[in-house]
Amino acid sequence: MKLSIIGPPGSGKTTQAELISKNCGLTHIYMGRLLRIEAQGDSPFAERIRCYLEAGLLVPLDIVHYILEREIEHVKDGYILDGFPRTLEQALDLDVLLQKRSEHLDAVIYLVVSDEEITRRLIERGRKDDTPELIRRRIEVFRTEIQPVLNYYQIEEILVPVNGIGDPLEVEQRIFDELAARHRLSSRCRRKN
Ligand code: AMP
Repeated sequence: MKLSIIGPPGSGKTTQAELISKNCGLTHIYMGRLLRIEAQGDSPFAERIRCYLEAGLLVPLDIVHYILEREIEHVKDGYILDGFPRTLEQALDLDVLLQKRSEHLDAVIYLVVSDEEITRRLIERGRKDDTPELIRRRIEVFRTEIQPVLNYYQIEEILVPVNGIGDPLEVEQRIFDELAARHRLSSRCRRKN
């Protein structure tokens, strides 16, 4: 099973990606974390990545493409992409990468959460890039860039919107129900909680 999970910052996508990866045996490829790790290293990209992260802006495609290709190369089985793609350009780039691997996404889970709710959650979370100003910027960037991505996957008939409000296990159950209703849930998935 090949999945992507997208949602605004603070929508709980990483919590869900972790649950799904554990319960379905998928590799979790979390772009935000990979970028933060890369930014701390001494690769030629590190300084550039830091600038974007600190500004709450999306990191350019050449870098995210390089990181994704490097990570996915070793994955033989299923995976869940967390926070990728975030722009239409990335979605089209992903298609090319997947075509080379003779793969396609089975579903793109979209966590639906209001701006008020995510702002509240992010202020509570308090990560380094969770200042009120950066939160506002990241939400703005997300909303602008994601709409064409949603339209694209809607046309491809793989978009699965899910209400992201509530207890994480409840949200996970909703995701499983939605995937099952579309016959997209692998029989390997089971809830172990
Ligand atoms: P996240 O951990 O998903 O909230 O992402 C944290 C930050 O990493 C974002 O604000 C972006 O600066 C960067 N980032 C994460 N995913 C992507 C992506 N697909 N493309 C570009 N930048 C990304």
